[in-house]
Amino acid sequence: GAEADAWELMESIRPLVGQIRGLVDHRLGPLGEKLGPASGHTLRCLSCGHFAALVTPGNGGVRPVGCLLCGKAYGDIAEVVDAYGVGSRYEAIREGGEPPAYECAECSSGQACVVPAQTADEPDGQVLLCLLGAHPLGGICDSCQRAADLDLADMCSDCLDIRHAKF
Ligand SMILES: [Zn+2]
Ligand SMILES: [Zn+2]
Ligand SMILES: [Zn+2]
Repeated sequence: GAEADAWELMESIRPLVGQIRGLVDHRLGPLGEKLGPASGHTLRCLSCGHFAALVTPGNGGVRPVGCLLCGKAYGDIAEVVDAYGVGSRYEAIREGGEPPAYECAECSSGQACVVPAQTADEPDGQVLLCLLGAHPLGGICDSCQRAADLDLADMCSDCLDIRHAKF
C-alpha cells in the first residue's frame, strides 16, 4: 500500500539525511564559535538559508550584511531592508500598512534601519534588529513610531523627555 511505500522511502533516504545533516553540522561547527556574541545580530541568509548573515555594526557604507557561508552580501541598508523588511515600502506608502522598517531611536539616524527579523539567538522568534548599530530593540515607541529600547513606558527616551518637559 501507499503507507508501506512511504515507509520504505523514508528508510531508504534516512542514511542520506543523516549524512547531509552531518555535513551541515560540520560546516556550522566552527562557525557557531565564530559567531559567539554576534549571534544576537546574525540573520538567516536568504540565499543559503543558514543563520550566517552577519550584521556589521557601525559600517560606514561598507556591506551592512554579509553571509559567512555563501558570501551573499548587500550593498547598503536600504537593500537589506528591501530583502528582510515586511512587505515593500511602496505598498506601505500606497496602502498605509506597516512600514517594512522603522527608524532607530537609539541611533537617531533618520533612516529606516530596524527590521523585525529572526536571529541566530532567536531562530523561532522575532527581534527588532537595528541594521545600523547591530543591536536589538525592545519595541516601537507609541509616540514617534520609531524602534526604541522601551523601558517602563511605551515611549522612547526622547519622547519621554518631551513629555516631562511639558509638565
Ligand atoms: Zn548564505
Ligand atoms: Zn540603532
Ligand atoms: Zn518616541
